[in-house]
Amino acid sequence: MSRFKELFGLVGNYRWNLLVNVLCNVLNAVLSLFTFLSVVPFLRILFGPGNEASANVDWQSLEGLEKWSGWFDQLVHQVGAPVALAWICISIVLVTILKNAVGYLALFSLATIRTGVSRDLRQQLYSKILSLPIGWFTDSRKGDVISRMTNDLMEVEFSVIGTIEVLFKSPVTVLVSLVTLFYLSWELTLFSMLFLPVSGYLISRIAKSLKHAAKRGKEQLGDLISVIEETLGGMRVIKAFNAEIAFDRRFQKSNEGYFNLMRRLYKREYLSSPISETVSLTVMAILLWFGGGLVLNGEGGLTGDWFIGYLVVFSQIIPPARAFSDGYFRIQKGSASLDRLDAILKETAGVYQSDDPQNCPPLGQNIRFENVSFSYGDKPVLKGIDLTIGKGETVALVGPSGSGKTTLTHLLARFYDPTEGRITLDGKDIKSFDLTSLRSHMGIVTQETVLFNDTVAANIYLGGNEGEMNADHLHDVAEAANASEFVHRLENGFDTMIGDGGGKLSGGQRQRLSIARALYRDPAILLLDEATSALDTESEQLVQQAIDRLMEGRTALVIAHRLSTIRHATRIIVMEDGGIAEQGTHEDLMALGGLYKRLVDMQDLH
Ligand code: ADP
Repeated sequence: MSRFKELFGLVGNYRWNLLVNVLCNVLNAVLSLFTFLSVVPFLRILFGPGNEASANVDWQSLEGLEKWSGWFDQLVHQVGAPVALAWICISIVLVTILKNAVGYLALFSLATIRTGVSRDLRQQLYSKILSLPIGWFTDSRKGDVISRMTNDLMEVEFSVIGTIEVLFKSPVTVLVSLVTLFYLSWELTLFSMLFLPVSGYLISRIAKSLKHAAKRGKEQLGDLISVIEETLGGMRVIKAFNAEIAFDRRFQKSNEGYFNLMRRLYKREYLSSPISETVSLTVMAILLWFGGGLVLNGEGGLTGDWFIGYLVVFSQIIPPARAFSDGYFRIQKGSASLDRLDAILKETAGVYQSDDPQNCPPLGQNIRFENVSFSYGDKPVLKGIDLTIGKGETVALVGPSGSGKTTLTHLLARFYDPTEGRITLDGKDIKSFDLTSLRSHMGIVTQETVLFNDTVAANIYLGGNEGEMNADHLHDVAEAANASEFVHRLENGFDTMIGDGGGKLSGGQRQRLSIARALYRDPAILLLDEATSALDTESEQLVQQAIDRLMEGRTALVIAHRLSTIRHATRIIVMEDGGIAEQGTHEDLMALGGLYKRLVDMQDLH
């Protein structure tokens, strides 16, 4: 329940709304009581003293109720029964209007809390997700994260409302009614409370199994959304490989699993209502029998009209008491979802951030990998790498695929930290730098271009503040990246929306945009993974030219797939199986006649 405490911390931001809600609910409860108890004077007028129906009741002997009754009898005496009746009816209408106005205000203030808490939580989750390290995303499935952020969040929102209602509304109503009931007849009230533990026991038993079922249901839904997400992402391949039927079957299996889990969940959840209704009506019937007996025998301090009033008030306890049990169910269901949100919010996996992070100064001399080893889980990928990259150098990484080239560049950007050894900039461990400041010196161009469904300009000017974009600089970098020409041919130039993942552009155009993006930042250090995808010769030339301009005057670590890039490199590092096999210039390595020469001969440089 400590999670709920935190959740209520969020509710605390809306304390004024909460206050309005509580006050309105108290008022609402009192006003409701008034309307229900108005049945007593009504009956009294029809059957009261002087009427034959109640001639055999000794009104004066009813001590507790005497004052009320006496006051009312006097009123009837003064104005006459028909006028008193009209007064009662008018006041019922007025009170009902007031009661509903107050009830509406209570609900409306709750709506602000509900949507507000959910907005805050959603924002927290999104910010947290943005701050999580790359490694976390490799391990989790996108669909499951999406499901948590939408479905589980809605469930939590719903259960928060349930909880607020249960915590603030129902107790008030129950308390006001209970006090009245004790006042009317403590014997009957004590008697009826004997049944509370029975219903409490039944309800808690169902609720327990509900949480478990809810959790499994949510996991299955995450699975389902992952399948949908993967299908949408891989639609071209699915169609090309005629894999529709296989995917359909896969989805059907997941969908069927979800159906079964949810059916079981609802089976339990819907039990709550019939059980509590049966229990409460049984209690009511026993009360009728027991209380009716008291009234008939003239015991228990109750007359017929007050007993009916008693029953009306008693029946008003039932809905809030049921709201209590429903709320309890909702909390159980909601807490399963809250656990799932919590798993993200409390995730501590992260790239280590120093307690006293330093601002990262511009590179002065060199970048060094000092005896760096790294493994994903228990799979060693890099083994004791020693490498120094001087300022302004272009170092090309080549080697068979899987030899660890990408991982090496990822360590420099601190997507991961080395398991052993350290990486330094001008002798200072990169771990001591503030992460944002460190990365502000780096430009990254990945093998697969990552573009967002936004305008061309926004894709180049990624991560900056809107309104601070320098249009001249934007045009210059687009020109340098050989992107200007095709951008101007687009319907709205730099303001053209490029579609999901840049789907409206060709492969070469996408690459040139991502190069323009790196150029815009003007980074001192460049991490470049050249695309392997085959481009037509003209396009390749344009991309190569853009890359050459990008590398000019920067310190670059390039995973090279093209001989032309390699020839520009000051040094070539040949990686094999997580270690450095050879290094030198193109000529040196060709003369050496080792792995590099074999790779060049095969043109399989990776
Ligand atoms: P390269 O860029 O030379 O092709 P990588 O650095 O991408 O090599 O990968 C090196 C090894 O690490 C490969 O065997 C690959 O299977 C493994 N690997 C890469 N990324 C992950 C990951 N996120 N989790 C587990 N293993 C990984």
